[in-house]
Parts: sequence; structure tokens; C-alpha cells
Amino acid sequence: MTGGRTLLESRARAVVDYSLARRATLSGLSTGRLARHEVCDAQAYLLRAARYHGRAVNVACPLCGAGALSQVFFTYGDCFRGDANGRARRPRELLSLADEVPEFTAYLVEVCADCRWNHLLASYVLGNGVPVKRRARS
Ligand SMILES: [Zn+2]
Repeated sequence: MTGGRTLLESRARAVVDYSLARRATLSGLSTGRLARHEVCDAQAYLLRAARYHGRAVNVACPLCGAGALSQVFFTYGDCFRGDANGRARRPRELLSLADEVPEFTAYLVEVCADCRWNHLLASYVLGNGVPVKRRARS
């Protein structure tokens, strides 16, 4: 995989790989258990995030075969407020965030701009691990 992902893996406190789930989804499609519209359902927000914050990967889309596949990270954590929670970010931003905030999870999603296939690939727990100071209880 790309250098960015490997670097993240070395920095992450926990990594969950969703490649088995992805394979199960793809086999569900080939056996007819899943319909194509159920998995090619990327919303406008996801397509836009993939376009502006994602990285094009040199991998053909598993569904339509187009080379329009990209990977994008979404970040969730208690340390993010409002709109910042769930924001799409570039790998470099993830590494600097990992130094700045205690803990967050980055979800790596694969998106096809052609057929709108999308699937979770992996999640990474990142952060500097420094607990946030709590306010003294009154
Ligand atoms: Zn596709």
C-alpha cells in the first residue's frame, strides 16, 4: 500500500482491517445476496470528500473496473466539535492531528466516482494519548 497508510499503521494505537467485510460484500454481490444499488450508494458528500481530500489509487474499481477509485479518511473523536467531527482529512493532516489531540479514530473509505461503490477499508485509533484535563467538579 501507499507510504501514508504504512506510516499511519506505525503510529496507530489500534488498527482494524475491514478487508474481510469488503470481500464478503463483493461475494454477496456475485451471489445475488446484495443488489448493486445497495453498495453503490455513495452520497454527494462522500463523492465530494473523495474528490477533494482523497487520494487516487492505482487500483481498478472492484465493481465497474474503472480507474476512478480513491481513498479518503474521515475523522471522529470526542476532541472534535460540531462540524469538525466526521471531517474528511488528508493523511498528512492525520499525522499532525495525532500529535495534537488525545484520541480520535480515522476511517479509511474507498470510493468510486464512476459507479459510486464505497466501502470501509480500515480504521486507525490515533492521538497523543495525553488525557484531557477535566474541570473540577463543583
Ligand atoms: Zn466503480
